[in-house]
Amino acid sequence: MQLNNLKDPNQMVDYATAVKTGLGNNQGLFFPPKVPQLPNVNELLAMSTTARNFHILQPLVKANISDDALRSIIANVFTFQSPLKKINEQVACLELFHGPTLAFKDFGARFMANCLQHFSKQQQSSEKITILTATSGDTGAAVAHAFHGLDNIEVVILFPQGKISELQQKMFTTLSGNIRTVAVAGDFDDCQKLVKQSFDDVDLVRAVGLNSANSINVSRLFAQICYYFDAVAQLPVAQRDQCVVAVPSGNFGNLCAGIMAQTMGLPIKRFIASTNLNDTVPRYLKDGIWSPNDTVETLSNAMDVSKPNNWPRIEYMIESGQFARQDLSGLAVDEMQTENTLKTLYQMGYISEPHAAVAYQGLQDSLAEDELGIFLGTAHPAKFKSSVEAILNIELPLPDAIAECAEKTDLSTNMSADYVSLRNYILG
Ligand SMILES: *Cc1c(COP(=O)(O)O)cnc(C)c1O
Repeated sequence: MQLNNLKDPNQMVDYATAVKTGLGNNQGLFFPPKVPQLPNVNELLAMSTTARNFHILQPLVKANISDDALRSIIANVFTFQSPLKKINEQVACLELFHGPTLAFKDFGARFMANCLQHFSKQQQSSEKITILTATSGDTGAAVAHAFHGLDNIEVVILFPQGKISELQQKMFTTLSGNIRTVAVAGDFDDCQKLVKQSFDDVDLVRAVGLNSANSINVSRLFAQICYYFDAVAQLPVAQRDQCVVAVPSGNFGNLCAGIMAQTMGLPIKRFIASTNLNDTVPRYLKDGIWSPNDTVETLSNAMDVSKPNNWPRIEYMIESGQFARQDLSGLAVDEMQTENTLKTLYQMGYISEPHAAVAYQGLQDSLAEDELGIFLGTAHPAKFKSSVEAILNIELPLPDAIAECAEKTDLSTNMSADYVSLRNYILG
């Protein structure tokens, strides 16, 4: 299958090129012109997750990845479960946080890493790949763990010194080998600026095979399609056609993957795009006017995005007639509601965290009696330990994965926010 550049109709690339280059000409996103439809979805839903994931991903990547190679990639990537936890008779949470860094970003990052590794092996020339990414927290951990130990791939992660929690930092600064981490004396914007300068440096890009691992890489979306099927597969057959999915959204990659799953044939009745106060999309869905405000900080900080970079893909799905606009509604949830919703869930016997709470509020708001609601649990509550503990007035134990990192040595290098220093560091 070829992928189009959504900003440049003349650029069509194969999957391998899209994964290796990330963005196309004019910063355009790569996307399939027509998302393939799967025959016999009911049969798929009856299969094991591993077998089903193969049938979902195969039509998307077969131009570049043989069936055997895809099977081995799937075995490396999908090593943890996505259980559907029942909250009450009508609502369940799809828990996507049982991977190594306890957030759903593990799915996309691991699939991307394994695909890149596969392409670099195919190229005989053992061409070098260097992943450079800036993080304010979660993405760094997912990327570091996903790429850790892979051959021929170096990873450099920049983060703002002293601006993220020690525990969050240790989730990516304690890995050795091919993962190098840099504490930049500055804020997150300084880190992003350094990354941008590096990608503008053509000589550097060529010398080290620079690649970003950010959320616009199409491979990440493909991996995320799989767990929507997993969610529906866990429902009783009789309830499968009444299913409404609420997605806590920031850059809208997660929702885009869900929409692709529906287009491929998964029976999802409708979607709710839940955001925090960064409500560009819910406002747009109401009045048709795209007018991002300044980004504001919220409890669900992984969704503090006012210009969601995956939105053009969803827009394309609607405009090309592959997804029905009326199957999508939006809801913006304020901070007080987020806290209250977290408390409501706790009273129902479920400890959640701010991102999932925002999604759950979307269901509470609009679920009809004959519908069945699924909200996506995108992170483990312990990742947002301090806010969850403060709001619910409880103590949360640290999961083993985090507790173990806390004991390890921080291996990061300090650096001023200076491009020449970074360049030398990457080359050295
Ligand atoms: C990244 C993230 C989101 C937002 O996902 P998008 O695909 O960017 O919409 C939601 N919750 C958590 C915990 C995240 O880390």
